[in-house]
Amino acid sequence: MAKREYQTVESGPKHHGEMLHPVIKKNYGQWKYHERPRPGVLKHVAESGDAIYTVRAGTHRQVTVDIVRFLCDIADKYCEGHLRWTVRNNVEFVTDKEANVEPMIKELEAAGHPVGGTGNSVSSLAHTQGWLHCDIPATDASGVVKSLMDELFHDFTHEEMPNRVRMSTSCCEINCGGQADIAIVVQHTRPPRINHEILKNICEMPSTVARCPVAAIRPTTVNGQPSLMVVEEKCIVCGACFGACPAMEINHPDYSKLAIWVGGKNANARTKPSNMKLVAHGLPNNPPRWPEVAEVVKKILAAYKEGGRDWERVGEWIDRIGWKAFFEQTGLPFDKFMIDNYRHARSSFNQSTHIRF
Ligand code: SF4
Ligand code: SF4
Repeated sequence: MAKREYQTVESGPKHHGEMLHPVIKKNYGQWKYHERPRPGVLKHVAESGDAIYTVRAGTHRQVTVDIVRFLCDIADKYCEGHLRWTVRNNVEFVTDKEANVEPMIKELEAAGHPVGGTGNSVSSLAHTQGWLHCDIPATDASGVVKSLMDELFHDFTHEEMPNRVRMSTSCCEINCGGQADIAIVVQHTRPPRINHEILKNICEMPSTVARCPVAAIRPTTVNGQPSLMVVEEKCIVCGACFGACPAMEINHPDYSKLAIWVGGKNANARTKPSNMKLVAHGLPNNPPRWPEVAEVVKKILAAYKEGGRDWERVGEWIDRIGWKAFFEQTGLPFDKFMIDNYRHARSSFNQSTHIRF
């Protein structure tokens, strides 16, 4: 057999360890303490006495090649090329030279990149992909992030909140939605309209039926052709079927809205983790600036900043004051649609392919 003269090359990202700053590599797992000399800057000190500085800057979220080049040039100039992107699309510059920190901040701020997002500030929103990357979004989550962070510039660059505030946006109701102190989530308000002409040609019907978490989709016949129907009183308008079949048309400029949920907490620091709860719904999905969403978020943040005690997360603040006081202090209206009174859960779940009990 002929000798193989080539080697298979593994594709995919390199191991992150290769990219670490030499000071981090040298002191890996040997850190003594860290502090924040100013908002947006972290100083980590190792057992060996070495120190490393991290400067966190906000970005526009969707960036051009020119901006990436600019940020890489900053990293080359001040950090021997070391930078990293966070899950919230902040960019962090890592240097062991304290003298580089202030000039780097000046250059970043002059270019419009705010430095902040550390400690008790409002860091950039974690968000899902939106129109640019995904096939089922009803809004552009990254656009909501950009417009909202423009409004919260001060809260990003100053650590004035009772505790850190983590926010997220999600451009559909079902998939990569974020649990957060304040979460902005798409909310469909009517069941999908079925495009039978398209469906008969493209739909793998059993998998679309199986996708529904409450067994609201049934096989049927339309104009002599096999198709699907939705039992509307069972449908929870989640949009999961649209992901399986684009003929289950649920996105609509008038019926796909935005909702705001608060009090989600994943950490078990101080108190146990908690699920977020709905506090505003039916907000217009109103690009490019989503002003109605910004108004509600700013009301919640203002009330939390005013009334939260030191180290209370948003959910802990609400637990202490109660929901009645939350709605009074934020000025948000409460209505019956915020009460979860869905009655079909048990029987529906037993019929779905997902859950049996
Ligand atoms: S939240 Fe939904 S629409 Fe947005 S990127 Fe994730 S799966 Fe796609
Ligand atoms: S998957 Fe969701 S939107 Fe589609 S029919 Fe079922 S409950 Fe309704």
